[in-house]
Amino acid sequence: PPPTIGSSLIPVINKLQDILASSGAELSDISVPQVAVVGSQSSGKSSVLEALVGRDFLPRGCNICTRRPLVLMLENHPPNSGDESSEWGEFRHLPGSRFYDFSKIRREIQAETEREAGSNQGVSESHIRLKICSPNVLNMTLIDLPGITKVPVGDQPSDIEARIRNMIMAYITNENCIILAVSPANSDLATSDALQIAKLADPTGSRTVGVITKLDIMDRGTNACNFLLGRVVPLKLGYVGVVNRCQEDINKNRSIREALAYEERFFHDHPVYNGVSDRCGIPQLANRLNQILEQHIRRDLPHLKAELNSHMRAVMKELQMYGKVVESKSEQGAILLDILRRYCDDFSAMVDGKSEDMSTK
Ligand code: GDP
Ligand code: MG
Repeated sequence: PPPTIGSSLIPVINKLQDILASSGAELSDISVPQVAVVGSQSSGKSSVLEALVGRDFLPRGCNICTRRPLVLMLENHPPNSGDESSEWGEFRHLPGSRFYDFSKIRREIQAETEREAGSNQGVSESHIRLKICSPNVLNMTLIDLPGITKVPVGDQPSDIEARIRNMIMAYITNENCIILAVSPANSDLATSDALQIAKLADPTGSRTVGVITKLDIMDRGTNACNFLLGRVVPLKLGYVGVVNRCQEDINKNRSIREALAYEERFFHDHPVYNGVSDRCGIPQLANRLNQILEQHIRRDLPHLKAELNSHMRAVMKELQMYGKVVESKSEQGAILLDILRRYCDDFSAMVDGKSEDMSTK
């Protein structure tokens, strides 16, 4: 299967977690990485997130669809034969009810959005929290955010742009948050809201990855090579170009798998993108993010190692309190024999009537 976000790290992290668990200490856990998507409305943020997870479950479309922040907690669960299915979603606002059908998850996100933000394009900063449990995900948090808009529509207040910007900043100023700055290829990168807000939160660009969507619907005669190569707006961690499903695909319920196959063919058949194929496609984006996540986890390791060492020192000290450290098998045997010998002596003394108790002194 094509790589998804975090997929290549699952075996390593599971092993690390086993080690931490078996040490018996209350160690701080490996910190959970966060990835948030930012950009203007309808730039393709939800589509990118969904493709990275490899499952269809987010509301997408041409109007404003994401109207509340969605905090998506991916949780790695070993496959369990007793379960109906080993992948499910569970909402914070519906504890205990597991959603095995991912299209029902999408409907519940929509319903819960309406409960809080109304049905007339209103936006709310109170987030929806959804946990996805699966053997195929890395423990991490993905955040789908409403897009930046300029003109209030429907029930939106006159200061809608400022409100949405503040909402986005609240998530992406976190130093632990990797920012996916999503810009559509059919408008100039120099006008990108995504790059502008990402730069505010991450001025050095050390945790911002550029994503260029809609490479399939650029003006004829143009291409995104200059964008992808960072010649228009340079970005330290670079750009990846993608082709997501168009509105017609969504209406016709095209699956993620079909979409990925279409994207692969698009890049394969397009002469211009041959030379930059390492910057093209959702699988490349997933690989790139996995490298960044790996570095993120690596940063935690010295700290975990120090904690493990100090825990080990404490355990050794405790062990010494119990007296002589008995290590070899023969030494243990000698001690046991000695106890047995004293027991026998006491026993014979009691039988001989010389003693009333047989405590082994
Ligand atoms: P968001 O508002 O940024 O979350 O954007 P969505 O993911 O909801 O997508 C907005 C619209 O753009 C939907 O109709 C998508 O089908 C369409 N779209 C997203 N990415 C692409 C793409 O790469 N190519 C094409 N043709 N359409 C896309
Ligand atoms: Mg969206």
